[in-house]
Amino acid sequence: MPSLFTKIIQREIPAHIVYEDDRVIAFLDIFPVADGHTLVVPKHEKPNALASDSNDLADCWRVIQTLAPAILRATGTEGCVVVTNVGEAAGQSVPHTHFHIIPRRKGDGLPAWPNPPVDQDRLARTAEQIKQAL
Ligand code: 5GP
Repeated sequence: MPSLFTKIIQREIPAHIVYEDDRVIAFLDIFPVADGHTLVVPKHEKPNALASDSNDLADCWRVIQTLAPAILRATGTEGCVVVTNVGEAAGQSVPHTHFHIIPRRKGDGLPAWPNPPVDQDRLARTAEQIKQAL
């Protein structure tokens, strides 16, 4: 069954499309975190960015590099978050690879990541575990 985003690509579901080429589509998020919140989606449907072909990801990034500055100009913002959620545990709700472009401005009140202090031994242990898992 095609994903929600494939249905948007196929024009079965309406969306405010801001960019499209033969490999990538970008449209406004229906529940925007901030004005201009845009989703960049490869047309080749895969469940998440870790499963997508690297060519599809490069195509998305090419679009993000053009689109994000235009979004900042259009919304009068100073910066943006570009993020992709992988898996339900990370908050992914649509299982079709996509990147969020979320405009940010200083003092916009969006929650920041916590930065709890961590000791060097813990960092070294974690780095070792990751290297061994590769
Ligand atoms: P995720 O939670 O998977 O990282 O992001 C999915 C995004 O898709 C959410 O931010 C959600 O607001 C957006 N979304 C869900 N349904 C629709 C829809 O029908 N149209 C559009 N344009 N965005 C949607």
